[in-house]
Amino acid sequence: MLSQPPRRTTRLQLSDLEIGRTLGTGSFGRVHLVRHKSTGVYWAMKVLRKGEVVKLKQVEHTVNERGILEMLDHPFLVSMLGTSQDAANLYIVLEYISGGELFSHLRRCGRFPNHVAKLYAAEVVLAFEYLHARDIVYRDLKPENILIGSDGHIKITDFGFGKRVPDVTWTLCGTPDYLAPEIIQAKGYGKAVDWYALGVLVFEMLAGYPPFYDEDHFKLYEKILAGKVKWPAHFDPNAKDLIKRLLTADLSKRYGNLKAGVKDIKGHKWFADLDWEKVLQRQYKPAYVPAVKHAGDTSNFDQYPEEREEYGKQGVDPYKDKVGLKILRGVCRGYAW
Ligand code: AMP
Repeated sequence: MLSQPPRRTTRLQLSDLEIGRTLGTGSFGRVHLVRHKSTGVYWAMKVLRKGEVVKLKQVEHTVNERGILEMLDHPFLVSMLGTSQDAANLYIVLEYISGGELFSHLRRCGRFPNHVAKLYAAEVVLAFEYLHARDIVYRDLKPENILIGSDGHIKITDFGFGKRVPDVTWTLCGTPDYLAPEIIQAKGYGKAVDWYALGVLVFEMLAGYPPFYDEDHFKLYEKILAGKVKWPAHFDPNAKDLIKRLLTADLSKRYGNLKAGVKDIKGHKWFADLDWEKVLQRQYKPAYVPAVKHAGDTSNFDQYPEEREEYGKQGVDPYKDKVGLKILRGVCRGYAW
């Protein structure tokens, strides 16, 4: 939970934080649980190695995420508390979402019953609607980036901070199962990629595995482009209909990307039994409420090998002239960094 922002601006620096265990790893570094020493509040801190960010030409994306997170305020999106940097790393402090990844929960359950998948999907739809209304394309939906709050509702994390732009030569990054055909074909991409990824997510939540899969990335790309899906018999026919409309390769026919935009998705038969205002107000009770014993409980996250470098080390910053990295200072939700 996000603690109440302080009424007056509080100055924060890395040395005010006690660095705890690793919660997860991303392409550019890791995410730690941290504790604000003077108040005892827990946050998550994402560490991005500057060298990696610059090497992979992601400076602009990094700056984007900083700008994006700062202005976002939505029940299903992770809030940012501030950013910092030293010679080697960028640090992004986020509210700590203690229920773990939707991914872990899904793997534990195998697959979700129709109504469970539907509520998660509906919350994602509202988060995307909010982002798209601000001309932000999320681009990286997958169950690892959907966290579960202590109340069981979702929070989407990872706003492209250090995100690699996927292209066909891209082999290092996580699972490419959620890539839309137009990304693979390097045609450039817009908001429609998010709706495609929603289709993959709904399929994966209901089936327990993604609609297209192959260990070999190039074969996987071929399968995505061919777009042939084997439908499990147990799928709700309305869910199947919506997934089909979201996985449509033809952008001029894909749901979410038509004239009515998100209305086509919100008005689809699969969602007919949900009241969208109630979804937004978190009035539907999630089927799964994670066991969280105390604010800093990390038992819902997998264990990662801890390679602790020293954070906050001063020294010559070889990246200090890089555009963008300079702007990582400022006031955010009452904290000045
Ligand atoms: P990311 O690099 O943003 O994809 O984050 C990598 C992993 O770190 C995620 O899959 C989560 O397991 C974990 N993580 C990221 N942000 C948070 C957060 N705000 N609270 C708890 N865990 C997080």
